[in-house]
Parts: sequence; structure tokens; C-alpha cells
Amino acid sequence: MNTAAEGESSQAADSTGDDDAGSERAEPQRWQIGEVSITSISESATPTSPRFLYDGVSKGGVLARAEAAPWLRPHFVSDDGYLLQRIHTCVISAGEHRIAVDTCVGNDKERTNPLWHRQQGPFLDDMTAAGFPPESITHVVCTHLHVDHVGWNTCLSADGEWVPTFPNAEYLFCAPEYDYWANHEDLFGDAVFEDSVAPIAAADRANMVEAVDSICSEVSFQSTPGHTPGHLSVVIHSGGKRAVITGDMAHAPMQLADPDLSSMFDTDPDEARRTRHIAFGDWADGETLVIGTHFGGPTAGIMVPHKGAYRLDCD
Ligand SMILES: [Zn+2]
Repeated sequence: MNTAAEGESSQAADSTGDDDAGSERAEPQRWQIGEVSITSISESATPTSPRFLYDGVSKGGVLARAEAAPWLRPHFVSDDGYLLQRIHTCVISAGEHRIAVDTCVGNDKERTNPLWHRQQGPFLDDMTAAGFPPESITHVVCTHLHVDHVGWNTCLSADGEWVPTFPNAEYLFCAPEYDYWANHEDLFGDAVFEDSVAPIAAADRANMVEAVDSICSEVSFQSTPGHTPGHLSVVIHSGGKRAVITGDMAHAPMQLADPDLSSMFDTDPDEARRTRHIAFGDWADGETLVIGTHFGGPTAGIMVPHKGAYRLDCD
């Protein structure tokens, strides 16, 4: 799936294309939307080669795009053309609910990607330190069922079984998304559904939702298909304010400046483009906090129209 770009080798050191920069943890971030707080707990923050995500986009191509959209630097694009990305979970605190949105890569999973293979990270300790021990989580939402969004759904028990990580949580999956991945191989051929989704259903903890559903008066879903068939974004309303958690309908803020740019991992690139145009047009009202599921640096900002496309204002 990787395409060699000018001046670059087609051989990445690993399958994130992260060939000369390491992964590191980031401190929790917190945003307040009316009465609701949203806390980001990072599993990893990684400069990512654009060729891992976008066919035909080199690091030089990223820098050229950042010339035309200077707001991308320094938060989202490095001086040498890497995309500054993150994998994190957002915990929404709304009344009595503690809703974990997307569960990263997880520990101990057998994965093709060497960075993710049998990972041994302190993510659950970091969640607890941020005020969210696993037993406090009431709901888990997966925007979609790719490898980096379902990992901590399960953890390895003492007798080697995959069991729900969050013992008191109801796990919410979009029905078309669940049905699709129950019948299709993972992007990298890994047993993602088998080790991180199916055990939730086997433990009778899975509930199927539709995009029209909501969890509570403050938290609902927005259908954003194309990246995957049943992809959902999460919408938070409180006190007259709104935030959205994107999921992977956009992987990097560079796609705000070019909504037509589809990732190589979009199941239906044309539908993904249509979705970005519709959703960005809705969210770019100068008031909505847009929280990127893989956006590095400040992770979130106010989306506004800019040069015929969009910009994220983070200050
Ligand atoms: Zn992802």
C-alpha cells in the first residue's frame, strides 16, 4: 500500500512509516463544553510519514501543503514534513456517565506493525492517574473497528483469555460497522475483530447503535461513513456549546485544508470525500470545538472556513 515518493525509499523501517522518529507519551488534555468535560489520555504521540496514510504524498508534498496552509505548522506538521499524530482515548464526563471514545491499540495484541506488536504500555495506569480507573467507565464507544480504535476493549486475563478491560461498561458498536468487520479481514490481516471485538459480544457486553441514537442528552452520534462503512463521529452538546470527536473521517488536519484528500485506509474514498465536505461544512461555524482522533499537538481547535476549505484555530 505504500507508494515511494520522490527522494524517499519505499521501505519504511516499520509500517507506520515512522523511520527516524520515536513514539512518546503525551500529558492528558482536557476541554470543557458547558457542563461536560472531555479528557484525552494518550497512548502514543508519533511523527508519521505521510506515505503511511496518503498515496502519493511525500514529506516534501506535506511541506508544500503547509506553505499554502501555514496554520498547519508547527502543531501538525514538523519542519521535516512529518505529520504529528497521536493515538488517544477521549473520556467524556457527562453527569454520571464516563464514556470512553476509541480504545487505541492495547497491550499484548499480536500485530503486524512492529510498533504495536505485543505492546506493553502504561495506558491503563495513565487513565487511572487522570481520574478514570477502568471500573469507572460506564460506556465504550468505538467510532469504527480499525486496529487502533478497539485495542483496549479487551485485555489478557491471567488464564490467557481476552476479556473486557472495562468491567462495568456497556460497549457500543455501530451495527453496519460490526457486521462489515465480522465478515472482512482486518487492514493488515491481524485478528483484530477476534481479539478485541468478538470477546465483548461473547461476554454479552456489546450493544448495537445507529447514528440516530444518543447515549444521554449531551452525547450523540453523527454518521460519517466512507473511511469505514459504519463510521461514527461523536457529538457533545452542553450549555449552548458543541464539540465533535472526529474519528478517522479525517486522519490529519492537512485534510481540513484539502477535504478531497482521502487516506489509503478509506474503505470508500468517494464517500469519505463527500462525508468530509458535508461534516466540515456543518462544523466550521466558528464555535464548534473539533477534537481530532489522531491530530497531534493541541489535538483540538475551532474549525473555520479558510481559502475555500477549512482551518483549525487552536489558540
Ligand atoms: Zn485510526
